[in-house]
Amino acid sequence: MLKRKPVNSTFLLVSILLLALSFFRPVPWFVFAFLGFIWFLLTVCGSFFIQWNYHFPSLNSKKDISRNHVAITFDDGPHPLYTPKTLRLLKKYNVRATFFCIGKNIQKHPEIFKEIIQEGHTVGNHTFSHSNAFGFFGTAKVIGELSKTIELVEDLTGLSMALYRPAFGVTNPSIAKAVKKLNLNSIGWNVRSLDTTFRNENQVLRRITSKAHKGDIILLHDTSEKSILVLERLLVFLEESKLKSVTVDDLLQIKAYV
Ligand SMILES: [Zn+2]
Repeated sequence: MLKRKPVNSTFLLVSILLLALSFFRPVPWFVFAFLGFIWFLLTVCGSFFIQWNYHFPSLNSKKDISRNHVAITFDDGPHPLYTPKTLRLLKKYNVRATFFCIGKNIQKHPEIFKEIIQEGHTVGNHTFSHSNAFGFFGTAKVIGELSKTIELVEDLTGLSMALYRPAFGVTNPSIAKAVKKLNLNSIGWNVRSLDTTFRNENQVLRRITSKAHKGDIILLHDTSEKSILVLERLLVFLEESKLKSVTVDDLLQIKAYV
């Protein structure tokens, strides 16, 4: 797959060669414009498609797993209404999951956050503010966001979180540096439910179940009634398919806490 550094080096080299050539014979301006456009397109796609591992690697699935396990992950909680509902469903079907929580929501609902851990689920970092501008933050600001949530959770539970789920799935060089500096494992997904979009419950469920496979990392959000309805049907489907949800660290055989 394409990676940022070789792509940038290649485009730089081609630009220099074209510039050198332009001293000997005219090179039309649109050749440079086209080159710049392709570079821009690759950079944008690499920043938005986490599976590309363009800026830094994320763990997106565990396809070589022998056990019939998948990992359901929930982003954006804890939510005062839907996280407890999610926890009740997971308990009813006796499965484990992973919650990538937003720092400011942990601050608002510390008891629900602690309950997630007490129920045997894993928690991970999903930034402090989940700002819409997160992709434009510089390295220091990204490190500040991730550290603030790590410290908050350490104070609350004594656990030092080592897993990070990129907000909006966006990656870039600043986030790459922050993840490296804080020694975090970036966790992506290979099944995106799109449960926060306009799609209805059936469409969301079909997106997950139509290609369900052991080793999948499934992205849901514990933030709406629709997701709760999808979750219950998904848990029934998994049970019938002899697939079981485990925590993402269990699926990937990595450590969730330092
Ligand atoms: Zn999110």
